[in-house]
Amino acid sequence: MEIDAAAIERNYAAIRRRAGPRRVLASIKANAYGHGVLKVARLLENLGVFGLWTGHVREALALRKAGVATRIVLFGGYLPDAIPDLAAHDLIPTVYDAAGVAAAAQAARQRPLPVYVKVDAGLGRLGVPLSKAKALVQSMRGVPGLRVEGVYTHLPFRDRDGQAWAERAAAGFERLLRELEAEGIAPEVTQLWGSSGLLAGLPDSTNAVCVGHLLYGLSPLARPLEQADEFRPACSGIKASLIHIRQAELHEEPPEMGAGYGRGRSGRTGVIALGAGDGMRGGRGVAQPEVLVRGVRAPVIGVSLEHTVVDLSACGTARIGDEVVVMGAAGEDRITLNDWAAWLGSTPLDVLMAFSGRLDCRLRTQTMNG
Ligand SMILES: *Cc1c(COP(=O)(O)O)cnc(C)c1O
Repeated sequence: MEIDAAAIERNYAAIRRRAGPRRVLASIKANAYGHGVLKVARLLENLGVFGLWTGHVREALALRKAGVATRIVLFGGYLPDAIPDLAAHDLIPTVYDAAGVAAAAQAARQRPLPVYVKVDAGLGRLGVPLSKAKALVQSMRGVPGLRVEGVYTHLPFRDRDGQAWAERAAAGFERLLRELEAEGIAPEVTQLWGSSGLLAGLPDSTNAVCVGHLLYGLSPLARPLEQADEFRPACSGIKASLIHIRQAELHEEPPEMGAGYGRGRSGRTGVIALGAGDGMRGGRGVAQPEVLVRGVRAPVIGVSLEHTVVDLSACGTARIGDEVVVMGAAGEDRITLNDWAAWLGSTPLDVLMAFSGRLDCRLRTQTMNG
Protein backbone atom coordinates (compact mmCIF):
# COMPACT_ATOMS: atom_id res chain seq x y z
CA MET A 1 0.00 0.00 0.00
CA GLU A 2 1.41 3.34 -1.02
CA ILE A 3 0.69 6.30 1.23
CA ASP A 4 1.10 9.73 -0.32
CA ALA A 5 2.76 11.91 2.31
CA ALA A 6 2.16 15.06 0.24
CA ALA A 7 -1.58 14.31 0.20
CA ILE A 8 -1.69 14.08 3.99
CA GLU A 9 0.28 17.34 4.27
CA ARG A 10 -2.07 19.01 1.82
CA ASN A 11 -5.16 17.70 3.61
CA TYR A 12 -3.77 18.83 6.95
CA ALA A 13 -3.16 22.33 5.55
CA ALA A 14 -6.73 22.44 4.16
CA ILE A 15 -8.09 21.36 7.56
CA ARG A 16 -6.00 24.05 9.25
CA ARG A 17 -7.43 26.68 6.89
CA ARG A 18 -11.00 25.57 7.54
CA ALA A 19 -10.42 25.30 11.30
CA GLY A 20 -9.39 28.97 11.51
CA PRO A 21 -8.33 29.77 15.06
CA ARG A 22 -9.33 26.33 16.35
CA ARG A 23 -6.72 23.73 17.26
CA VAL A 24 -6.50 20.64 15.07
CA LEU A 25 -6.50 17.29 16.86
CA ALA A 26 -5.69 14.39 14.55
CA SER A 27 -7.65 11.17 14.81
CA ILE A 28 -5.30 8.24 14.13
CA LYS A 29 -7.56 5.49 15.46
CA ALA A 30 -7.80 2.07 13.79
CA ASN A 31 -4.22 2.06 12.46
CA ALA A 32 -4.68 5.63 11.17
CA TYR A 33 -7.83 4.57 9.30
CA GLY A 34 -5.83 1.73 7.77
CA HIS A 35 -2.92 3.87 6.52
CA GLY A 36 -0.26 2.64 8.96
CA VAL A 37 -0.32 4.39 12.32
CA LEU A 38 3.41 4.79 13.00
CA LYS A 39 4.34 6.48 9.73
CA VAL A 40 1.26 8.68 9.80
CA ALA A 41 1.90 9.65 13.44
CA ARG A 42 5.51 10.61 12.67
CA LEU A 43 4.40 12.67 9.69
CA LEU A 44 1.78 14.51 11.76
CA GLU A 45 4.27 15.05 14.54
CA ASN A 46 6.62 16.71 12.04
CA LEU A 47 3.74 18.90 10.87
CA GLY A 48 3.39 20.14 14.44
CA VAL A 49 -0.05 18.71 15.19
CA PHE A 50 -1.42 19.59 18.67
CA GLY A 51 -2.14 15.99 19.51
CA LEU A 52 -2.94 12.49 18.29
CA TRP A 53 -6.23 10.84 19.25
CA THR A 54 -6.84 7.10 19.20
CA GLY A 55 -8.98 4.50 20.92
CA HIS A 56 -6.42 1.74 20.46
CA VAL A 57 -4.28 1.21 23.57
CA ARG A 58 -1.81 -1.18 21.95
CA GLU A 59 -1.19 1.21 19.05
CA ALA A 60 -0.78 4.15 21.44
CA LEU A 61 1.80 2.22 23.48
CA ALA A 62 3.62 1.22 20.27
CA LEU A 63 3.86 4.89 19.25
CA ARG A 64 5.47 5.80 22.57
CA LYS A 65 7.85 2.86 22.28
CA ALA A 66 8.80 4.04 18.78
CA GLY A 67 9.66 7.45 20.17
CA VAL A 68 6.62 9.50 19.16
CA ALA A 69 6.65 12.28 21.76
CA THR A 70 3.55 14.32 20.78
CA ARG A 71 0.53 14.43 23.08
CA ILE A 72 -1.51 11.23 22.69
CA VAL A 73 -5.05 11.15 24.01
CA LEU A 74 -7.12 7.97 24.23
CA PHE A 75 -10.74 8.22 23.17
CA GLY A 76 -11.48 5.13 25.26
CA GLY A 77 -10.95 1.45 24.68
CA TYR A 78 -9.89 0.35 28.20
CA LEU A 79 -11.32 -0.38 31.64
CA PRO A 80 -10.70 2.09 34.49
CA ASP A 81 -8.01 -0.09 36.08
CA ALA A 82 -5.80 0.46 33.01
CA ILE A 83 -5.62 4.21 33.63
CA PRO A 84 -2.56 4.22 35.97
CA ASP A 85 -0.60 2.21 33.40
CA LEU A 86 -1.65 4.56 30.58
CA ALA A 87 -0.56 7.53 32.69
CA ALA A 88 2.80 5.88 33.36
CA HIS A 89 3.34 5.75 29.57
CA ASP A 90 2.48 9.41 29.19
CA LEU A 91 -0.85 8.65 27.50
CA ILE A 92 -3.77 10.91 28.38
CA PRO A 93 -6.96 9.04 29.29
CA THR A 94 -10.54 10.01 28.63
CA VAL A 95 -12.95 9.59 31.55
CA TYR A 96 -16.72 9.48 31.35
CA ASP A 97 -17.88 7.95 34.65
CA ALA A 98 -17.15 7.88 38.39
CA ALA A 99 -15.01 4.72 38.15
CA GLY A 100 -12.77 6.38 35.56
CA VAL A 101 -12.46 9.51 37.69
CA ALA A 102 -11.51 7.41 40.75
CA ALA A 103 -8.82 5.54 38.78
CA ALA A 104 -7.49 8.81 37.34
CA ALA A 105 -7.41 10.38 40.82
CA GLN A 106 -5.38 7.42 42.08
CA ALA A 107 -2.93 7.67 39.17
CA ALA A 108 -2.61 11.42 39.73
CA ARG A 109 -1.11 10.75 43.17
CA GLN A 110 1.99 9.37 41.45
CA ARG A 111 2.35 12.19 38.90
CA PRO A 112 0.22 15.09 37.66
CA LEU A 113 -2.34 13.75 35.21
CA PRO A 114 -4.32 15.62 32.57
CA VAL A 115 -7.59 13.95 31.53
CA TYR A 116 -10.28 14.55 28.94
CA VAL A 117 -13.98 14.21 29.63
CA LYS A 118 -16.08 12.69 26.88
CA VAL A 119 -19.71 13.78 26.79
CA ASP A 120 -22.46 11.85 25.05
CA ALA A 121 -24.41 14.72 23.56
CA GLY A 122 -26.69 12.42 21.61
CA LEU A 123 -24.69 9.86 19.61
CA GLY A 124 -25.50 7.23 22.22
CA ARG A 125 -22.08 5.60 22.27
CA LEU A 126 -19.34 6.41 24.78
CA GLY A 127 -19.56 9.36 27.14
CA VAL A 128 -21.10 10.79 30.27
CA PRO A 129 -24.71 11.77 29.55
CA LEU A 130 -25.16 15.48 28.97
CA SER A 131 -27.30 15.77 32.11
CA LYS A 132 -24.52 14.36 34.34
CA ALA A 133 -21.52 15.94 32.64
CA LYS A 134 -21.31 19.10 34.77
CA ALA A 135 -21.33 17.11 38.02
CA LEU A 136 -18.62 14.75 36.73
CA VAL A 137 -16.34 17.62 35.74
CA GLN A 138 -16.98 19.34 39.08
CA SER A 139 -16.14 16.12 40.95
CA MET A 140 -12.54 16.47 39.73
CA ARG A 141 -12.11 19.96 41.14
CA GLY A 142 -9.44 20.09 43.82
CA VAL A 143 -8.33 16.47 43.33
CA PRO A 144 -4.54 16.60 43.83
CA GLY A 145 -2.62 16.21 40.57
CA LEU A 146 -5.71 15.86 38.42
CA ARG A 147 -6.48 18.42 35.71
CA VAL A 148 -9.33 18.40 33.21
CA GLU A 149 -7.42 19.43 30.09
CA GLY A 150 -10.33 18.99 27.74
CA VAL A 151 -14.04 18.37 27.32
CA TYR A 152 -15.29 16.95 24.04
CA THR A 153 -18.09 15.15 22.28
CA HIS A 154 -18.60 13.49 18.90
CA LEU A 155 -21.49 14.19 16.55
CA PRO A 156 -20.66 12.69 13.16
CA PHE A 157 -23.25 12.70 10.37
CA ARG A 158 -23.49 11.42 6.82
CA ASP A 159 -26.37 13.33 5.23
CA ARG A 160 -28.75 16.30 5.60
CA ASP A 161 -30.99 14.64 8.18
CA GLY A 162 -27.92 13.69 10.17
CA GLN A 163 -26.68 17.24 10.01
CA ALA A 164 -29.96 18.60 11.40
CA TRP A 165 -29.71 16.10 14.26
CA ALA A 166 -26.05 16.99 14.93
CA GLU A 167 -26.82 20.72 15.03
CA ARG A 168 -29.59 20.17 17.59
CA ALA A 169 -27.32 17.97 19.73
CA ALA A 170 -24.45 20.46 19.43
CA ALA A 171 -26.60 23.14 21.06
CA GLY A 172 -26.85 20.95 24.17
CA PHE A 173 -23.08 20.49 24.33
CA GLU A 174 -22.44 24.21 23.90
CA ARG A 175 -24.92 24.92 26.70
CA LEU A 176 -22.89 22.59 28.95
CA LEU A 177 -19.69 24.52 28.15
CA ARG A 178 -21.40 27.80 29.09
CA GLU A 179 -22.63 26.28 32.36
CA LEU A 180 -19.10 25.11 33.17
CA GLU A 181 -17.76 28.54 32.39
CA ALA A 182 -20.30 30.07 34.78
CA GLU A 183 -18.78 27.79 37.45
CA GLY A 184 -15.31 29.10 36.59
CA ILE A 185 -14.34 25.97 34.67
CA ALA A 186 -12.77 26.72 31.28
CA PRO A 187 -10.82 23.69 30.00
CA GLU A 188 -7.83 24.34 27.74
CA VAL A 189 -9.39 22.21 24.98
CA THR A 190 -13.06 22.10 24.03
CA GLN A 191 -14.06 20.18 20.93
CA LEU A 192 -17.28 19.43 19.16
CA TRP A 193 -16.82 18.86 15.43
CA GLY A 194 -15.00 16.21 13.42
CA SER A 195 -14.71 15.92 9.63
CA SER A 196 -18.41 16.22 8.81
CA GLY A 197 -19.00 19.35 10.92
CA LEU A 198 -15.82 20.96 9.58
CA LEU A 199 -16.72 20.16 5.97
CA ALA A 200 -20.23 21.56 6.45
CA GLY A 201 -18.76 24.70 8.01
CA LEU A 202 -21.06 24.50 11.01
CA PRO A 203 -20.89 27.23 13.66
CA ASP A 204 -18.80 26.33 16.66
CA SER A 205 -17.98 28.04 19.95
CA THR A 206 -15.30 25.49 20.91
CA ASN A 207 -11.56 25.93 20.40
CA ALA A 208 -10.66 22.67 18.64
CA VAL A 209 -11.71 20.20 15.94
CA CYS A 210 -10.79 16.50 15.95
CA VAL A 211 -10.42 15.27 12.40
CA GLY A 212 -9.86 11.83 10.90
CA HIS A 213 -11.61 11.24 7.57
CA LEU A 214 -10.51 14.47 5.87
CA LEU A 215 -6.91 13.97 6.94
CA TYR A 216 -6.84 10.84 4.79
CA GLY A 217 -8.86 12.36 1.96
CA LEU A 218 -11.87 10.22 2.86
CA SER A 219 -15.39 11.57 2.74
CA PRO A 220 -17.18 11.60 6.11
CA LEU A 221 -20.45 11.89 4.19
CA ALA A 222 -22.49 9.27 2.34
CA ARG A 223 -21.35 10.76 -0.98
CA PRO A 224 -17.77 11.01 -2.24
CA LEU A 225 -15.81 14.20 -1.57
CA GLU A 226 -16.38 16.90 -4.15
CA GLN A 227 -13.42 18.96 -2.93
CA ALA A 228 -10.92 16.91 -4.95
CA ASP A 229 -8.55 19.85 -5.21
CA GLU A 230 -8.59 20.54 -1.50
CA PHE A 231 -8.49 16.98 -0.19
CA ARG A 232 -6.56 14.13 -1.85
CA PRO A 233 -6.73 10.41 -1.03
CA ALA A 234 -3.81 9.52 1.24
CA CYS A 235 -3.81 5.95 -0.02
CA SER A 236 -2.51 6.37 -3.55
CA GLY A 237 -2.02 2.75 -4.48
CA ILE A 238 -2.40 -0.91 -3.63
CA LYS A 239 -0.11 -3.05 -5.74
CA ALA A 240 0.84 -6.71 -6.01
CA SER A 241 2.73 -8.99 -8.40
CA LEU A 242 1.50 -11.28 -11.12
CA ILE A 243 3.10 -14.59 -10.13
CA HIS A 244 1.56 -17.03 -12.61
CA ILE A 245 -0.13 -17.07 -16.00
CA ARG A 246 -2.28 -19.89 -17.26
CA GLN A 247 -3.43 -20.48 -20.81
CA ALA A 248 -6.52 -22.62 -20.37
CA GLU A 249 -7.33 -25.30 -22.92
CA LEU A 250 -10.49 -24.74 -24.87
CA HIS A 251 -13.56 -26.87 -24.06
CA GLU A 252 -12.22 -27.90 -20.70
CA GLU A 253 -14.69 -29.53 -18.30
CA PRO A 254 -16.78 -26.94 -16.46
CA PRO A 255 -15.91 -26.39 -12.80
CA GLU A 256 -17.58 -28.60 -10.24
CA MET A 257 -17.51 -25.86 -7.62
CA GLY A 258 -19.32 -22.58 -8.09
CA ALA A 259 -16.56 -20.24 -6.95
CA GLY A 260 -14.37 -20.85 -10.01
CA TYR A 261 -10.70 -19.98 -9.98
CA GLY A 262 -10.34 -20.11 -13.72
CA ARG A 263 -11.22 -23.74 -14.34
CA GLY A 264 -13.49 -24.29 -17.25
CA ARG A 265 -12.46 -21.03 -18.83
CA SER A 266 -10.78 -20.71 -22.12
CA GLY A 267 -8.30 -17.92 -22.48
CA ARG A 268 -5.57 -16.46 -20.32
CA THR A 269 -5.87 -16.12 -16.58
CA GLY A 270 -3.36 -14.79 -14.09
CA VAL A 271 -2.65 -15.29 -10.40
CA ILE A 272 -1.81 -12.33 -8.15
CA ALA A 273 0.01 -12.79 -4.85
CA LEU A 274 -2.70 -11.05 -2.83
CA GLY A 275 -5.66 -12.82 -1.25
CA ALA A 276 -8.46 -12.59 1.27
CA GLY A 277 -5.90 -12.93 4.06
CA ASP A 278 -4.36 -9.66 2.88
CA GLY A 279 -7.74 -7.95 2.80
CA MET A 280 -8.54 -8.59 -0.86
CA ARG A 281 -12.24 -9.08 -1.54
CA GLY A 282 -14.37 -9.81 -4.55
CA GLY A 283 -15.64 -12.44 -6.87
CA ARG A 284 -18.93 -12.94 -5.10
CA GLY A 285 -20.28 -9.37 -4.92
CA VAL A 286 -22.95 -7.73 -6.99
CA ALA A 287 -20.42 -6.36 -9.42
CA GLN A 288 -17.17 -7.80 -10.75
CA PRO A 289 -14.12 -5.92 -9.48
CA GLU A 290 -11.23 -5.18 -11.80
CA VAL A 291 -7.50 -4.63 -11.48
CA LEU A 292 -5.01 -3.05 -13.90
CA VAL A 293 -2.29 -5.08 -15.60
CA ARG A 294 -0.06 -2.96 -17.87
CA GLY A 295 -2.77 -0.32 -17.78
CA VAL A 296 -5.44 -2.73 -19.04
CA ARG A 297 -8.45 -3.84 -16.98
CA ALA A 298 -8.43 -7.46 -15.83
CA PRO A 299 -11.67 -8.67 -14.19
CA VAL A 300 -11.33 -10.53 -10.89
CA ILE A 301 -12.49 -14.13 -11.29
CA GLY A 302 -11.93 -15.39 -7.75
CA VAL A 303 -10.24 -14.53 -4.47
CA SER A 304 -8.83 -17.29 -2.29
CA LEU A 305 -6.95 -16.94 0.99
CA GLU A 306 -3.59 -15.96 -0.51
CA HIS A 307 -4.21 -15.56 -4.22
CA THR A 308 -6.48 -13.74 -6.62
CA VAL A 309 -7.25 -15.06 -10.09
CA VAL A 310 -7.88 -12.51 -12.83
CA ASP A 311 -8.99 -12.72 -16.43
CA LEU A 312 -6.11 -11.67 -18.69
CA SER A 313 -8.00 -12.06 -22.00
CA ALA A 314 -7.58 -8.35 -22.72
CA CYS A 315 -3.99 -8.15 -21.47
CA GLY A 316 -2.12 -9.98 -24.22
CA THR A 317 1.26 -8.58 -23.22
CA ALA A 318 1.06 -9.49 -19.52
CA ARG A 319 4.17 -11.23 -18.17
CA ILE A 320 4.99 -12.98 -14.92
CA GLY A 321 6.43 -10.39 -12.54
CA ASP A 322 4.24 -7.57 -13.82
CA GLU A 323 2.97 -5.09 -11.28
CA VAL A 324 -0.79 -5.42 -10.77
CA VAL A 325 -2.56 -2.25 -9.69
CA VAL A 326 -5.45 -3.17 -7.41
CA MET A 327 -6.00 0.48 -6.55
CA GLY A 328 -4.34 3.48 -8.14
CA ALA A 329 -3.30 4.69 -11.57
CA ALA A 330 -1.70 2.76 -14.43
CA GLY A 331 -1.35 3.99 -17.97
CA GLU A 332 -4.34 6.18 -18.75
CA ASP A 333 -6.61 4.35 -16.35
CA ARG A 334 -7.22 4.52 -12.61
CA ILE A 335 -9.05 2.42 -10.04
CA THR A 336 -10.17 4.25 -6.91
CA LEU A 337 -11.23 3.30 -3.40
CA ASN A 338 -14.69 4.53 -4.37
CA ASP A 339 -14.72 2.01 -7.25
CA TRP A 340 -13.93 -0.80 -4.80
CA ALA A 341 -16.58 0.41 -2.37
CA ALA A 342 -19.14 0.39 -5.19
CA TRP A 343 -18.09 -3.07 -6.44
CA LEU A 344 -18.24 -4.58 -2.94
CA GLY A 345 -21.32 -2.68 -1.79
CA SER A 346 -19.35 -1.22 1.13
CA THR A 347 -17.59 2.05 1.95
CA PRO A 348 -14.06 3.27 1.13
CA LEU A 349 -13.22 3.11 4.84
CA ASP A 350 -14.39 -0.52 5.07
CA VAL A 351 -12.23 -1.38 2.06
CA LEU A 352 -9.25 0.19 3.87
CA MET A 353 -10.15 -1.64 7.09
CA ALA A 354 -10.04 -4.97 5.25
CA PHE A 355 -6.44 -4.26 4.12
CA SER A 356 -5.45 -2.51 7.38
CA GLY A 357 -2.35 -3.85 9.06
CA ARG A 358 -1.94 -6.64 6.52
CA LEU A 359 -0.03 -4.81 3.83
CA ASP A 360 3.36 -3.19 3.89
CA CYS A 361 2.58 0.55 3.97
CA ARG A 362 5.14 2.61 2.07
CA LEU A 363 5.17 6.33 2.63
CA ARG A 364 5.92 8.04 -0.68
CA THR A 365 7.57 11.36 0.06
CA GLN A 366 9.03 12.24 -3.33
CA THR A 367 7.22 14.73 -5.51
CA MET A 368 6.14 14.13 -9.11
CA ASN A 369 9.36 15.52 -10.53
CA GLY A 370 11.58 14.55 -7.58
C1 LIG B 1 -13.30 9.15 15.20
C2 LIG B 1 -13.55 10.29 16.06
C3 LIG B 1 -13.32 11.59 15.59
C4 LIG B 1 -12.90 11.87 14.16
O1 LIG B 1 -14.00 11.72 13.31
P1 LIG B 1 -13.87 11.91 11.73
O2 LIG B 1 -15.27 11.85 11.24
O3 LIG B 1 -13.07 10.77 11.21
O4 LIG B 1 -13.23 13.22 11.49
C5 LIG B 1 -13.53 12.63 16.47
N1 LIG B 1 -13.95 12.41 17.73
C6 LIG B 1 -14.19 11.18 18.20
C7 LIG B 1 -14.64 11.01 19.60
C8 LIG B 1 -14.01 10.08 17.39
O5 LIG B 1 -14.23 8.84 17.88
